[in-house]
Amino acid sequence: MRRTSDMKITIGHLYPDLLNLYGDRGNIACMMRRCLWRGIQAETIEFHMGDCVDFKELDIVLLGGGSDREQRIVCGELKKIQGQFQDYVEDNGVVIAVCGGYQLLGKYYRTDAGTMEGLNLLDICTEQEEGRLIGNIILKSGLSKTPVVGFENHGGRTYLNGCRPFGKVLFGAGNDGRSGYEGVVYKNVLGTYLHGPLLPKNPEICDYLLEKALERKYGEVSLRKLDDRLERAANEFICRRFVKGNLSH
Ligand code: GLN
Repeated sequence: MRRTSDMKITIGHLYPDLLNLYGDRGNIACMMRRCLWRGIQAETIEFHMGDCVDFKELDIVLLGGGSDREQRIVCGELKKIQGQFQDYVEDNGVVIAVCGGYQLLGKYYRTDAGTMEGLNLLDICTEQEEGRLIGNIILKSGLSKTPVVGFENHGGRTYLNGCRPFGKVLFGAGNDGRSGYEGVVYKNVLGTYLHGPLLPKNPEICDYLLEKALERKYGEVSLRKLDDRLERAANEFICRRFVKGNLSH
């Protein structure tokens, strides 16, 4: 197996000045840190409107959340890179898309002000409905032994059309406030409404994504465990506060 010091992860942050709500940028800081602590080199490239995105040089792509207005601006730009983005996804490229970014992975996002066409990378769609789904959220996900915690704030309701959810909602609203599910997982794409930011609050999810990115590039990898006692204590506190006793369902 290759030594971690010979490994390098390149993260592409798409449109950070438009899509970056509730600290979504913290996901990048977390991935970078957890690589560096293990001696894995890590670099982030920011892409702004009009920049050419070369997906071949990227191992992880982050799309953060944004207001409807900002999503509309980004939407046209995404159309220009749709083909390359799709090839990257089908080739098992890792993508983390949060809230507004998550909605744009799908076929469309319908709002009162009109419909935005999405990247059409996944067979999901989002429709704005009455009222916003706002608050703390806790999930049980197959990607993590510990429950996943975060914060959601969205007017759009996302429908999965048979795609696999990220997790089952233990507390909060999730994709549509009714189905009991949150987010989506397709190949190495994770779409979710969880801000917070997601990864520092849920280091197991961070390591899952890093592992997927490294495996795609270098074959089998085994990441050294890190000292996550603080993160676990914070997670337990939140779970006790909102879910109380039973987390096994
Ligand atoms: N504008 C979208 C909505 O309200 C996404 C918001 C967000 O990214 N927090 O549904």
